[in-house]
Amino acid sequence: MASVKENLSRSTELTASDSARLDTEILLGHILGRPRTWLYTWPEYELTETEQRQLDALLQRRINGEPVAHLTGEREFWSLSLKVNASTLIPRPETELLVETALALCPQEKLRALDLGTGSGAIALALASEKPGWQIVAAEKSADAATLAGENRRALGFENVQIVQSDWFTEIAPQKFDLIVSNPPYIDAADPHLGEGDVRFEPRSALVAQGEGLADIELIAREGIAYLEAGGWLLVEHGWQQAGAVREIFAAAGFNSIESRRDYTGWERITLG
Ligand code: GLN
Repeated sequence: MASVKENLSRSTELTASDSARLDTEILLGHILGRPRTWLYTWPEYELTETEQRQLDALLQRRINGEPVAHLTGEREFWSLSLKVNASTLIPRPETELLVETALALCPQEKLRALDLGTGSGAIALALASEKPGWQIVAAEKSADAATLAGENRRALGFENVQIVQSDWFTEIAPQKFDLIVSNPPYIDAADPHLGEGDVRFEPRSALVAQGEGLADIELIAREGIAYLEAGGWLLVEHGWQQAGAVREIFAAAGFNSIESRRDYTGWERITLG
């Protein structure tokens, strides 16, 4: 039998992960049903045989590359615990910048917003958690992802979010929104990054777009303008080298007040217009 402390030291086995210690803490906390901090208040706790078997299995799957969020079935985004599975992108901390920017641009308490390609529901639900008076439509093409987003919405009880199965705008009746947000697929199919890390276990449809990764952003800008109130905002996340191209796409679609925002590492990762 091994203790919490001994099991934490096994993080050295996760040689391919750049967050091996954190991964091990999350998996161990998940199996023991305890917060991570508990592991340090009771390091001498001896795992039962079942707990040890479960941990061994999860560590092995992590060594094989599976994302931690798929092993625990959940991921925190904007301080909300979201269910995740292989049908959607795993919410990323950098996407919180999109939420933050949208909230700063739109201080009003009543507003109509559209989240395109909501996946797990992360962006729509984060906005709803801050703005109970907003009416938010969350569109998602994949039936499995839309189901997951619906489960997250129900678990959080945000009745002001409506999930619609729609391939971008196809099932969204003509109407005007004050805000359209999206974290669409934007990776080029030839990007070697697709062969590394968590993305290998995420749906390509959530990651890869035609036209050097810009085709979906182009569609969203071109079709989205008709869905926006005068003075409304479109905000999209994009790759760290795409800001210039995205600004041109926005301008060609007829947007003005176009601007990109930098993430905490200094890259322009969001464009608004
Ligand atoms: N930022 C993600 C990544 O590089 C991709 C997210 C996306 O395509 N929307 O792994």
